[in-house]
Amino acid sequence: MTTLYRNAVIVTMDDAGTEHESGWLLIDGSTISAVGSGAEPDAGSTVDLNGAVVTPGLINTHHHLYQTLTRARAQEADLFTWLRELYPVWSRIDAEAEYAAARTGLAELALSGCTTVFDHHYVFPQGREGLIEAEVQAAREIGVRIVASRGSMDLGESDGGLPPDELVEELDTVLAETERLASLLHEPGPGARVQLAVAPCSPFSVTGRLMEESAALARRLGLPLHTHLAETLEEEEYCIELYRCRPVEYLDRLGWLADDVWCAHCVHLSEVDIAQFASSGTGVAHCPTSNLRLGAGVAPVRDMLEAGIRVGLGVDGTASNERGDLFLEVKQAMLVARGRGGGTAMTARDAIRLGTRGGAAVLRREDIGSLEPGKCADFAVWRTDGLELARADDRVAGIVFAGPHRVDRLVVGGEEVVRDGALVNADEAEIAQAHRAQARTFTG
Ligand SMILES: [Zn+2]
Repeated sequence: MTTLYRNAVIVTMDDAGTEHESGWLLIDGSTISAVGSGAEPDAGSTVDLNGAVVTPGLINTHHHLYQTLTRARAQEADLFTWLRELYPVWSRIDAEAEYAAARTGLAELALSGCTTVFDHHYVFPQGREGLIEAEVQAAREIGVRIVASRGSMDLGESDGGLPPDELVEELDTVLAETERLASLLHEPGPGARVQLAVAPCSPFSVTGRLMEESAALARRLGLPLHTHLAETLEEEEYCIELYRCRPVEYLDRLGWLADDVWCAHCVHLSEVDIAQFASSGTGVAHCPTSNLRLGAGVAPVRDMLEAGIRVGLGVDGTASNERGDLFLEVKQAMLVARGRGGGTAMTARDAIRLGTRGGAAVLRREDIGSLEPGKCADFAVWRTDGLELARADDRVAGIVFAGPHRVDRLVVGGEEVVRDGALVNADEAEIAQAHRAQARTFTG
């Protein structure tokens, strides 16, 4: 079953950065079979894209879907103050609320051009089961790929950690649950729709022992590792006080600087830290809007890229980036890089690359992130005939400078998830209504 998507600017994001000005994309089932311009191949069906821009589907490398339930709280707070205010509210989460939150967050991401979502879930109140299963179900229904995670916190306030004691778990429970979810959900190999990562939360909410045991388990099961790191200067001070070293040094001690690890934020990395990330192959999820919202700072992404570090983009949770729009992060990544390093610090195409190839590299996925034969048919179609792009001759750069936009069409594994700017498999208004009903539990 082949489909030819024609009459579009195809941005392949291959190694050479090939673009086809009057291009086409041939899909065979769930994979891309050819891409090019000029003479068009025969196909079972043909779709005319009317001069739109086609990019690989965006890949979100850091999120907390449950946080759609607690938007616009602690509005002027720094990270630690914000967390202290929200932990008790988050402790009300159950599978029903998680499902409603995940549907909301995943729908929003799909409508922003995102085809693969990594979600970092680390709040597991006692007795609430099925949280990860609920978000995976939501992803399956909406039609996007998900890399879920079994996050964790085991360092409560009374042991010097930040979260309240009632929100931390026993180490053995965390490891057993991680192993159970891995055997239940994780699909190895190309084309995976559902995968699992092992993701203890942060240096200030997890013991060193759980970090080490998590790494050992992940390496035994062949799962990737993820955590938050170097997000704020307060975190750095906390690490120095508790562990007598800075966050990157702490991670190194725990065996966490490695090519199966990626860390969210990495705002406060020194030149030495950057060199260590590069030599160890450790990846970074850059979350510019969230970092600005919490006043954390701006990550030195240009330096990271020049050192050869894998960098992808993340919206982060929607309680610290109230907009779950990954295309906004593409634009934001370009803007903050320029704010740090001047107008040449990042091009529009560099920013698209971070959101696509960069994300695939961070998640260690060679089957997604570019439009090349043999890769998954995951792509986003951006209309260029609207008000915001009138007179933009360079339509590819134009969509970034004028972003964000609602995607016109989104395809995951050859299947349409968004068509004419609307979800194919779900009703946006119904998702928002169900979410409002659940979110009432989280007010006050
Ligand atoms: Zn986060």
